[in-house]
Amino acid sequence: MAKARVLLVEDDPIQAGATKEILEKAGYDVVCAADGISAIKEVKTNKPDIILLDVILPSLDGYEVCRWLKLEEPTKGIPVIMLTVKTELSDKISGLHIGADDYLPKPYNELELNARIYASLRTKALQDELKSKNRQLEEVLAKVEYMAITDVLTGLYNRRRLHLSLTKEFERSKRYATPFSLILMDLDHFKNINDTCGHLAGDMVLQEVAKIIQKNIRDVDTAARYGGEEFIILLPNTKKEDAVHSAERMRLSIENHKFPDTQNVVITVSIGIAGVPDEDLTTEDKMIQCADIALYKAKHNGRNRTMVADGKSLVEI
Ligand code: GH3
Ligand code: MG
Ligand code: MG
Ligand code: MG
Repeated sequence: MAKARVLLVEDDPIQAGATKEILEKAGYDVVCAADGISAIKEVKTNKPDIILLDVILPSLDGYEVCRWLKLEEPTKGIPVIMLTVKTELSDKISGLHIGADDYLPKPYNELELNARIYASLRTKALQDELKSKNRQLEEVLAKVEYMAITDVLTGLYNRRRLHLSLTKEFERSKRYATPFSLILMDLDHFKNINDTCGHLAGDMVLQEVAKIIQKNIRDVDTAARYGGEEFIILLPNTKKEDAVHSAERMRLSIENHKFPDTQNVVITVSIGIAGVPDEDLTTEDKMIQCADIALYKAKHNGRNRTMVADGKSLVEI
């Protein structure tokens, strides 16, 4: 293991020499500074592991140096032990107040000096370990959160996340009386694609369709994979007529897209749209059911088309 580097800030050359000798004997690398300004320069250029800081110094006193170090992000974590002939309680308190980690009155005992350096370095190592563990934990949590809301194959939101957005947008639309549309899209004869080109090619088609959807929606819209080859797109602040434009743009993009590994078959989608305000669509589930009825009509009428339904069609079935 590399030796810990100690910065010794001491203006008395005899005292500095004696302390340096003790520290080197204990196995530390020691760098010396004789005044406050050169101490700060040294810390900036060669970050030490620990600083032994005399209080009474020329140019800038130890308290000022300590205050500066504890204010700066890159240096605030370096332990500082104040060294001084002052033994008044108030001096100790002001040192600790401005962020010093420990306090050692001069003349110090060699064993005590070493013990305090060791304790400060150990605390620092534990703090660093804790910080690194916390960082790792945050990364894992972010990944878990991402996985909980994302569809693995397409990278779109999954069904669970879709329902959260749907509830939020439905309530928002009700409260502020703004229009809100839902697009339900289903690939046509997708089973044939799997059967003729293989399941992997089928997976790729789903990924490409997801990309096309994402390219064609606004930042405020939410796209999700709702089931095997079904997608839902939520369009806040959008009337059904405008949702139809958006859906048609996507449908045509898909129809004209050259999908890899599919022997150039034309891939199409059928689309059902529902929207609020609609006095019969009183819940978000009814909105999905309504879009499903529209989708069924699109399939029934020959596929590769967009159909719209209103709440009355729910009442009819
Ligand atoms: P329709 O036009 O009536 O929708 O016909 P379809 O063949 O698309 O519908 P059907 O419900 O009969 O079949 C859906 C197919 O989608 C069957 C299933 O194997 C396939 N599928 C579902 N999820 C995945 C997936 O993740 N990857 C692949 N490759 N295929 C999937
Ligand atoms: Mg001094
Ligand atoms: Mg389907
Ligand atoms: Mg299908």
